Amino acid sequence: MSDSPADGSSRPLPGAADDPFRRLVVVLHEPQDLVNVALVIRGMMNMGLRHLRVVNPDEEMDPYRLTGIAHGSDELVEAAEVHDSLEEALSDCTHVVGTSARRRSVKQQWREPGEAAPEIVARTGGGNVAVVFGREDKGLSNDDLDRCHELLNIPTNPEKTSLNLSHAALIVFYELRQAVREEQGVPERDLSPKPTHQVPRATAEQLESLFEVWEDALDELGMFSGIDPGPKMTSFRSIFQRAELDEREVRLLKASAYEILHYARRERARLRGEIEGDDAGEEE
Ligand code: SAH
Repeated sequence: MSDSPADGSSRPLPGAADDPFRRLVVVLHEPQDLVNVALVIRGMMNMGLRHLRVVNPDEEMDPYRLTGIAHGSDELVEAAEVHDSLEEALSDCTHVVGTSARRRSVKQQWREPGEAAPEIVARTGGGNVAVVFGREDKGLSNDDLDRCHELLNIPTNPEKTSLNLSHAALIVFYELRQAVREEQGVPERDLSPKPTHQVPRATAEQLESLFEVWEDALDELGMFSGIDPGPKMTSFRSIFQRAELDEREVRLLKASAYEILHYARRERARLRGEIEGDDAGEEE
């Protein structure tokens, strides 16, 4: 951890040339709770940010406590800078992004993190860019916000706009990371369920024969008694077509429909038998 006053020029920060966040600085202005600072550090690590500046923290930046909460953050904590004023912490930054739960200033540009992130990342090409977060109880003052070139607001429930400092920070870091991913063309992870084995999609003919048995089965259950089965069958068709069934699934559904059909027929025959039996009994 270093008490290093910035020299005022937009000096490159340490970091590999291919690190997209090498010129992105996270600034925490007068944080009150060291746990929140540690959780911000954890979020920074998760999203790949490395430069932290803390202005007048209420609690001393104790590396032992910080790394105890944010495991594996020794390097980041060691490199973190403590400053006496926001002015000093921002002195080598060419672009300053403020964050606030309340859109109090009308004259500045307010955006949501996802909307602003691509441009913020692009601006790191021209110098150090700071993203500033305020203290837990009061946030950033109007004077602090005036130092910012643009402001971010995370949309929330309007009756409860103030996020926990580390939660707000994580949302912003996440959006910055997404912007880098999109710029680098990192393919989105395919989250669709992977078929364990490739079964061919059902043909129109197979689906038609399923619909036929399905209709017979429901008819036998009395679902269409007295009404046109057309509209209900149109809905079933659309459900099954949307499901993009494969051959095996169509066979399973068809077999189930047959079971229903046969069960309903047997049950009907049994009931008829019982009634006829009763009638025969009465005759005796
Ligand atoms: N009571 C303060 C909130 C402080 S929360 C206020 O009303 O401003 C601590 C910090 O988390 C804020 O200064 C800001 O940096 C960030 N933050 C919290 N909620 C936010 C939100 N909805 N949008 C953007 N930043 C937010």
